[in-house]
Amino acid sequence: SGSMEIYDRLTEILKEQNIPCDLELQEEPHGNAIGMKKSGCHGFCEMGPLVRIEPQGYLYTKVKLSDCEEIVEKTIKEGKHIERLAYQKGGTIHKKQDEIPFYKKQTRLVLEHCGHIDATSIFEYLGIGGYTAFEKALFDMSADDIINEISESNLRGRGGGGFPTGRKWAQVKRQNTEQKYIVCNGDEGDPGAFMDRSIMEGDPHRMLEGMMIAGLACGASEGYIYVRAEYPMAVSRLKTAITQANELGLLGDHILGTDFSFHLHINRGAGAFVCGEGSALTASIEGNRGMPRVKPPRTVEHGLFDKPTVLNNVETFANVPLIICNGSDWYKGIGPEKSAGTKAFALTGNIENTGLIEVPMGTTLREVIFDVGGGMRDGGEFKAVQIGGPSGGCLTKEHLDLPLDFDSLKKAGAMIGSGGLVVMDSNTCMVEVARFFMNFTQNESCGKCVPCREGTKRMLAILERIVEGNGQDGDIELLLELADTISSTALCGLGKTAAFPVVSTIKSFREEYEAHIYEKR
Ligand code: SF4
Repeated sequence: SGSMEIYDRLTEILKEQNIPCDLELQEEPHGNAIGMKKSGCHGFCEMGPLVRIEPQGYLYTKVKLSDCEEIVEKTIKEGKHIERLAYQKGGTIHKKQDEIPFYKKQTRLVLEHCGHIDATSIFEYLGIGGYTAFEKALFDMSADDIINEISESNLRGRGGGGFPTGRKWAQVKRQNTEQKYIVCNGDEGDPGAFMDRSIMEGDPHRMLEGMMIAGLACGASEGYIYVRAEYPMAVSRLKTAITQANELGLLGDHILGTDFSFHLHINRGAGAFVCGEGSALTASIEGNRGMPRVKPPRTVEHGLFDKPTVLNNVETFANVPLIICNGSDWYKGIGPEKSAGTKAFALTGNIENTGLIEVPMGTTLREVIFDVGGGMRDGGEFKAVQIGGPSGGCLTKEHLDLPLDFDSLKKAGAMIGSGGLVVMDSNTCMVEVARFFMNFTQNESCGKCVPCREGTKRMLAILERIVEGNGQDGDIELLLELADTISSTALCGLGKTAAFPVVSTIKSFREEYEAHIYEKR
C-alpha cells in the first residue's frame, strides 16, 4: 500500500536536512541521530501505511507521501504529535498503538515481533531474547525434556488439523533411523489467509528457532521450509535469516561446539493448493508431482525421502520458542486447556478493520468481529463468516458466542483451518460464496482420484446453473448427495472437505438456494 515509498521519502527528507539516519544505528540514539527501520506487518492492514515513532510510541495511520515532511518537522524534530494522522474512532484520538481497540483486545505472542523488529537483522532478534529458547534446549534440556514440555503445553498444530505437536514429535523421535527430517509447511494457500506469510516476512528467526528445537528433540539434522513462490519477500527474508544463522554458527555442523548439527533448506512451491497436504508437499520437495498418496504409512514414519518426518506449519513452529522459554504451565494458562495458546486469524471481507490479529484460543466470534474487527463495514448487518477457507464452514449469527477453538468449532461442524476469517454482511449471496469456494477447490483438485476430480466438477456445474437462474428441481438434494459421496470417498483432505462450504451454506441458508431456483420461474 505504498509503505516502501513512505520509507524512501522519509529517508530522503532526513538526508536533505543532514539528520543522520542509519539502519545500522541500533544503539541508543545520541545528538540528533535517528534510526529508521522497515518492520514486518503490524497487522492493521486497513490503516496502512503505518509509521511508528519511538520513544513516544505514536502510531500514524494511512500515511501519505505528502505527510512525510510534517512528520519529520513536527514529530521527529520537535517530538510533537500530529493528531490528523492518528487513528480516530467515535471522536477519540488514539495516539499510541496499545490504545487502539484493534490491538487492545489482542494477545500478540506469535506476532509480537512483527511490526517491531527489522526482520532482516539477526542482531535485532538476538537483542530481544531471540535464540535463548534454542540455547536452553541445547544446553539444559534432554530430547525427552523438550518433547515433554511441548506435550504438556497442549500445543496443537495450527495448520488446521489441530494434532498434538508433542505427540507428533515423540512419534518421530521413536523411529529408529539415522536420518530424519523437520519440514515446515509455509504453503499457505487459503483465499484470504496470510498469517504464515506475516510471520515469515516479519519474524523469520522465530520460526527457524522452533524448527531447530524440533530437530534437537527428534534427532533430525536436516530441515526444509516449503514456501509459496508467490511470497517472494518471505522467501528472501528466510534466505537472509538462514545465511545469518549459519554465519553465527547457529546452523550447520557442531552447533555452538556441541554434537548437534542442523541444516536448513528452502523449497519454493509453485502455487498448488494441494501441496499444503503433507504427502503432496513432501512429494513436491522430492521433485515429484505434488499429489497426495494413500496413508498409512504416515509422514511420521515414512515422510520426506521415505524417512520419519515432523511436518508442522509456520505458526506452530513459531509457538515453540515461547513454550521452551516460559514453560508449559504458562502456555496452558492462555486459552482453554485442551486448545491452549493463541491463534492468528486473517480478518477479511465486510469488516471495519481488515488485517491480521492474534487472540487467545476460546475468544468468541463476537469479540473477534465486533471488538477487534470494529464491527461491520459501513454499518452493515452481520450475516455469516467463512472460517478455515475452502475446507472450512460457514458460521452464522447463532454462532456469534461460539468460542474459537479446535473442539468448539468441530462440534459446530466447522474447523479453524489455518485461520482465514471472511466476514460477510446481509448483502452477500451465500450461493455465490459456495460457488466461489467450489470453483477454487475444483481448480486446485490434483485429479488423482475420481470422487474429487469429477465430483467437484459436477457440484460446480450445478452451483453455476443455480446462480445463473437455471436451477432445477432436486438440485439441492443432488448437491448434498454428491457432497456426501465426495467427502466419504476422496483420497485426501482437499477432497474430503471440498463440499463443506456448500453443505454449511445449504444448512444455514437453504432459502437462498430455493430463491435462486424457484423465484425466477
Ligand atoms: Fe487429488 Fe482431490 Fe483426490 Fe486429493 S481428493 S488426491 S486433491 S483428486
